[in-house]
Amino acid sequence: MEVRVRYAPSPTGLQHIGGIRTALFNYFFARSFGGKFVLRVEDTDRTRYSDEALDDLYGTLDWLGIRWDEGPVVGGPYGPYIQSERYEIYRKYAQQLIDKGMAYYCFCSSERLDDLRREQEDSHSSQQGYDRHCRNLSKEEIQAYLDKGIKPVVRLKVPEEGSTTFHDVLMGDITRENKDISPDPILLKSDGFPTYHLANVIDDHLMHITHILRAQEWIPSGPLHVILYNAFGWEPPVYCHLPMVMGNDGHKLSKRHGSTSVRDFRDKGYLPEAIINYVTLVGWSLDGEKQFFSKYELEKVFSIEKINKAPGVFDYKKLDWFNGQYIREKDDKELAGLLIPYLDRENLLDGMSEDEKLNRVIAIVPLVKDRLKVLSDVCDIARFIFKDPGTPEAKMLCAKGHTPQQELKALEMAYPIIKAGLLEGKADAAIEEELCELAPKLGIKVNGVFMPIRASVTGSQVSPPLFDSIRALGYDDAFKRMERGLEVLGSTSAC
Ligand code: GLU
Ligand code: ZN
Repeated sequence: MEVRVRYAPSPTGLQHIGGIRTALFNYFFARSFGGKFVLRVEDTDRTRYSDEALDDLYGTLDWLGIRWDEGPVVGGPYGPYIQSERYEIYRKYAQQLIDKGMAYYCFCSSERLDDLRREQEDSHSSQQGYDRHCRNLSKEEIQAYLDKGIKPVVRLKVPEEGSTTFHDVLMGDITRENKDISPDPILLKSDGFPTYHLANVIDDHLMHITHILRAQEWIPSGPLHVILYNAFGWEPPVYCHLPMVMGNDGHKLSKRHGSTSVRDFRDKGYLPEAIINYVTLVGWSLDGEKQFFSKYELEKVFSIEKINKAPGVFDYKKLDWFNGQYIREKDDKELAGLLIPYLDRENLLDGMSEDEKLNRVIAIVPLVKDRLKVLSDVCDIARFIFKDPGTPEAKMLCAKGHTPQQELKALEMAYPIIKAGLLEGKADAAIEEELCELAPKLGIKVNGVFMPIRASVTGSQVSPPLFDSIRALGYDDAFKRMERGLEVLGSTSAC
């Protein structure tokens, strides 16, 4: 039997990191068996649907390099794969259930249902939900309602007695008393549109889905779906509900913890390799040891037996670490290509041709590569190279505990040493040693010698290694900025 799985998101918001983990698990599971990964768009809730969310779904999977074998755009033998294009199918199958006596028309008005809900609340009744008022209407009663032009909903007959069990690969048997299952949920709304339960079950069946890997929050729907499969006389697929993705405080991952949409991560400059690798490790591991996996490897080694039963914790720091590792694996040219959009976004490369951009950015890659957690960090690290930080404030030029007078003297002595040293092509270490020797002579700390140089050149008290920074900027500009630093310090009395 061919393994067929699906990712079935509702396009109501941006792709969430937890949703993408579900997609990845499905994708890798399918690949590991040489099976099919189906994408299905569950867009029957038209009030929450958004075009942006649908674009984001396609864009995100594309960016991650996750291709679906069947689904929207690519098609397939069991399409259409967008639920809003399948309404006729759902109506036909709902009718089938009515004909079999497994579902029925309900004509209750929303007023009646509201009253019912209020009564149940007021009396703290143990009976919650629909009271099955229309479950046993006679043919004549039904016809009378229809003749009046009242549009019914279709409800599922949930058995009143007994219990329903379904098996979950990770959780084992899950059993619920039928009396505790939502009494006769709506399958087809009065406008003829299906609810999630009906559309989901019909599609999984018609699309020959063999395994359902989805978030644990769908467990409560499990018994209902099994009842639906039974009502149709269909075999339910194998279930594997995936443990939640949590923040480090034990709560479900949400905006409170940080970015949750893949688009946010992408904008900040996380690499798809890092997202795929790390997100797959949230709740799955091969042997508890190996950490680095390419997509290609995961397609081979992924298995649901190794999914953790406990919720997975999403650790932002760990993702940063993975991202840094993948950044450092890039060769300079490829990394430059990835950095350019971020520098462009902050107008740091304005006025350059594409070739110039590439050459300039390749030249700074060695300076930034080891320091990037995310690609967008390049702007803060390398801004001084592409944009004059402007005349610095005296305070910026002074190391902690040093006066402008001390720093002026330091820079006056350091500047000629650096300038001569660099122009003569002396080794960095040799120049550095000379500069260090200034400190005891001036009665200041070594930091006091370097700070006015660094801050003049970069406009910041923290920067990549000083000499590399100067070279990346170019000697002429660097010298001019140091001279400007001298002027600032010369005309300042106190910080
Ligand atoms: N459309 C549902 C969702 O948004 C699908 C749930 C399922 O996989 O059955 O997650
Ligand atoms: Zn009713």
